[in-house]
Amino acid sequence: MTDTPQGFETLAIHAGAEPDPATGARQVPIYQTTAYVFRDADHAAALFGLQEVGYIYSRLTNPTIAALQTRIAALEGGAGAVCCSSGHAAQIMALFPLMAPGRNIVASTRLYGGTITQFSQTFKRFGWSCTFVDFDDLDAVKAAIDDDTRAIFCETIANPGGYITDLDAIAAIANEAGIPLIVDNTTATPYLCRPIEHGATLVVHSLTKYMTGNGTVTGGVVVDSGKFDWSASDKFPSLSKPEPAYHGLVFQETFGPAAFTFHSIAIGLRDLGMTMNPQGAHYTLMGIETLPLRMEKHIANAKEIAVWLEGHDAVESVTYAGLDSSPYKARIPQICPKGAGALFTIQLKGGYEACTKFVAGLNLFSHVANLGDARSLVIHPASTTHRQLTEQQQIAAGAAPNTVRLSIGIESAADLIADLDQALKAAG
Ligand SMILES: *Cc1c(COP(=O)(O)O)cnc(C)c1O
Repeated sequence: MTDTPQGFETLAIHAGAEPDPATGARQVPIYQTTAYVFRDADHAAALFGLQEVGYIYSRLTNPTIAALQTRIAALEGGAGAVCCSSGHAAQIMALFPLMAPGRNIVASTRLYGGTITQFSQTFKRFGWSCTFVDFDDLDAVKAAIDDDTRAIFCETIANPGGYITDLDAIAAIANEAGIPLIVDNTTATPYLCRPIEHGATLVVHSLTKYMTGNGTVTGGVVVDSGKFDWSASDKFPSLSKPEPAYHGLVFQETFGPAAFTFHSIAIGLRDLGMTMNPQGAHYTLMGIETLPLRMEKHIANAKEIAVWLEGHDAVESVTYAGLDSSPYKARIPQICPKGAGALFTIQLKGGYEACTKFVAGLNLFSHVANLGDARSLVIHPASTTHRQLTEQQQIAAGAAPNTVRLSIGIESAADLIADLDQALKAAG
C-alpha cells in the first residue's frame, strides 16, 4: 500500500490485505491453525517477552484475524484494534484494563437491551457498577461522574430507537473528567460515523451486525484511538504502572499509542480468552468489502420506508432520525452526514397486542433477535430483547410495549412496503 491517504471504499477492500507472502494468494487465507513454529529458542523468548511481534498461539493472535484488525483500525481511524468473539465480549475487553472492584462507568439509558443487562447485572459479579443517565442531559452526565468513574459509554446511533448521541459534547465531558469515552458504533458503522474524530478514546463493535452484514458470524472488536494519556492520572494503573499480570511491564511507557492494544492481546485475550476464530474473521473481511455499498442501500430503503410508515393509519409514530419529525434530525449533519442508519422503531396505535400480530403477519421480514443483516428483520423488544427490563427501563430505552423494531435490509423497497402494508392491515 502507498502512503497517500486512501478513500473509505478503497480501505474497505485493501486495508490489512497484502497478497499472502507464502503463496501469493490474493484473498486473505483462513489460517486455520492453533500454534506457530518458533524459529529457535531466542525467537520464542522474544515473542513471549513482547520484544518481537509475531504469532505464538491463536488465543492471542492469528494472521487472518490480524488482517481484519488492521482493516477495522484503518476504517475507524484508530491506532490499533483487537477482535474478539462477540460484541458483548468487546465491551468486557474494552473495560477490563480500566476497571477494578469498586469502580464504575456512566452509561446512556439508550443502549442495546443486552448491554443494559450486562452493565446492570453481570457487572456486579466483578464489583463494578454502572450509572445510567439520559445523555441529552449533559449536566446529569457530569453529575454522575465521581472519583471511581473510569469510563463513559454510549452508542452512536442508539439501538433500538434511532437516537443520535451528541458525541462531541459527551467527549468534552469525558475529557474534562480525565476519563475515556467508549462508543459502541455497531449501528452506525465507520461508514456513517467515525467516533474517534468526535473525541472517542475507544470504539467497540458487534461485528455480528452491519460489518459482516449477512447474519453468519458473531464477532466483536475494540478499536483504540491511541490518543488517551493513561499516565495523566493514577486512575489507570494497568496501563500506566508496572503490570503484575505481565511481569511488571509498563504498557504505556513500552508501547506508547499501542499500549491499550498490546494490553488487550497480552492480558485481555490471554486471560479472558474471548477469542475470535479465523473462519469468522474471514466472513467479516468479506462482508466489509461491500460495507459502503450496503450502507447506501440500507439508508435509501430505510428513509423511503420510514416516510411511508409515518403516513400509515395504524402507526402512531416512527422514530427514524432521518425524518423531519425527529428531534435528532439536527444531529445528522454533525454526527452521521451520510444518513441516520437503517434501524428504527414504530409505535402502533393498537398497543402490545397489535405489535405481536403485526410481527406474526410479516412474510418477507424475518422475526429474529438480530439487526444489520442484508435481509430485513423485525422484533418486538418488550416481549423479547428488552423482556428482562422493567417497563420504566423499557420506556427509557425506547422499547415501550407498543414498539416494534425494524432493521431495514437491502431488498427492493417496494416489496418491503407491500409486506409491511399487509401485516399492518392484518394487525387491525
Ligand atoms: C448486537 C449488539 C451488541 C452485542 O453484540 P453481540 O455480537 O451480539 O455480542 C452490542 N451493541 C449493539 C448496539 C448491538 O446491536
